[in-house]
Amino acid sequence: MGAPEAFIATTEVGHFIDGRALPSQSGRRQAVFNPSTGAVARQVALASVDEVNAAVASAKAAFPTWADTPPIRRARIMNAFLQLLMQHRDTLAAMITAEHGKVFTDAQGEVTRGIDIVEFACGIPQLLKGDYTDQVSTGIDNWTLRQPLGVVAGITPFNFPCMVPMWMYPVALACGNAFILKPSERDPSPSIFMAELLKQAGLPDGVFNVVQGDKVAVDALLTHPDVKALSFVGSTPIAQYIYETGAQHGKRVQALGGAKNHMVVMPDADIEQAVDGLIGAGYGSAGERCMAISVAVLVGDIGDKIVPKLAERAQALKIKNPMELDAEMGPIVTSQAKERIEGYIDIGVKEGAKLVVDGRGHKVKGLEQGFFTGGTLFDHVRPDMRIYKEEIFGPVLSCVRVKDLAEAVQLVNEHEFGNGVACYTSDGNVAREFARRVQIGMVGINVPIPVPMAWHGFGGWKKSLFGDMHAYGEEGVRFYTKQKSVMQRWPETIAKGAEFVMPTAK
Ligand code: NAD
Repeated sequence: MGAPEAFIATTEVGHFIDGRALPSQSGRRQAVFNPSTGAVARQVALASVDEVNAAVASAKAAFPTWADTPPIRRARIMNAFLQLLMQHRDTLAAMITAEHGKVFTDAQGEVTRGIDIVEFACGIPQLLKGDYTDQVSTGIDNWTLRQPLGVVAGITPFNFPCMVPMWMYPVALACGNAFILKPSERDPSPSIFMAELLKQAGLPDGVFNVVQGDKVAVDALLTHPDVKALSFVGSTPIAQYIYETGAQHGKRVQALGGAKNHMVVMPDADIEQAVDGLIGAGYGSAGERCMAISVAVLVGDIGDKIVPKLAERAQALKIKNPMELDAEMGPIVTSQAKERIEGYIDIGVKEGAKLVVDGRGHKVKGLEQGFFTGGTLFDHVRPDMRIYKEEIFGPVLSCVRVKDLAEAVQLVNEHEFGNGVACYTSDGNVAREFARRVQIGMVGINVPIPVPMAWHGFGGWKKSLFGDMHAYGEEGVRFYTKQKSVMQRWPETIAKGAEFVMPTAK
């Protein structure tokens, strides 16, 4: 394996259309930063409508042959891709760290969770096996099969430049679709590397395309008559826009949005485990995870015991160059995001929350121009405060005190987001009641970040997901295929004469 940096474009990250890496044709570009140093590292192309149209045309042309390729042969290409991903896992992880800023060890975990989905997609022959009923009526059989949709597209956020696209395209491709990825313009490099690996694995040209870009590219995909389905992951206002616009243009859409994940700590919880859970889930990836815990709901008297421990640990976080293997937190993705996060800390102070640990203005020696901010801890946050209601998407943990489990569940259920939630307790009945009553898509019992494994499917409730089906797993297979029912009989069994009544079993 070569040095990770060798794979990253030094000047411009372009598109990948019809099996070829292409520079920007339109001349529209945007800077990509190294968030650790604050320097512009390269440019990313921003596609024009013509460039998007070229990608859709290539995918449309490639689709019929790919859809007709037997699932076992599609699975073999996925398997070859899987081997290449394993081989190049650290290259991809280093690319993620270079443009996103998350610590390298966390980026390795991101790639591994993406690889899990490719592994799931390798089982596509079994997953596409249909149902069959012999003799639904005399001499008649009926079966159902699932067929691919055609050209489908994925629009993805900055915070998981490998894993979130891999929630989508391995399943979509294995089902027989042609795919167009529009990655985040903040960290575009992994998308091109994954496209190269897919080509190396034997994927025919045009089946997987990447268009870099912004709203222009997204709108072109949203309204293109040849794009049959759209998967989106990002913030809630854009998710809602994608869902509504896509539906207006007759597309199948799944649009995953923002989050405000709570962790309820019961008085009987193991305090050390709860502190570990909150620190890792609150500050890991600098809080820039859709499953990050941003609210600690402290029940009964646990608050006074746990807050001092959280403060001590938040102050001791190892915030440094994210390529160092003992780094616990790296920089924020952009200077604008850092300003937004620190702006929310100002708001929290003005709203009257108790600022226990203040991460504003944090500097890392030798990386003074990097977009770093420290871990922040608020106590006595109230549900009417903006820092409670809104998604901050940074390393800011808000503690809310409640009297009992019923109040904790009500608080969680009344929040507009419903992505993930956790409950720390040593009482089985509390755990069971919590999991049953909570209005949230993904629940962890003594598990702080309950991201479902590849074969279970990922999705939130309420304003965290617009659409009916969750990402990946069998839900993903259903999303990327449509069901067809076939009924057959052969001339020997056809009775004479036309039938004018609703056919029933004879
Ligand atoms: P974002 O919504 O700004 O961008 C997501 C994608 O939409 C990007 O590809 C971007 O280019 C595009 N986009 C941005 N503005 C657009 C516009 N006006 N019109 C059309 N397209 C537009 O999100 P982000 O900042 O990249 O990612 C962080 C957000 O993603 C957070 O809200 C986080 O909670 C959410 N997220 C959710 C999940 C989940 O599974 N629910 C997972 C990861 C991230």
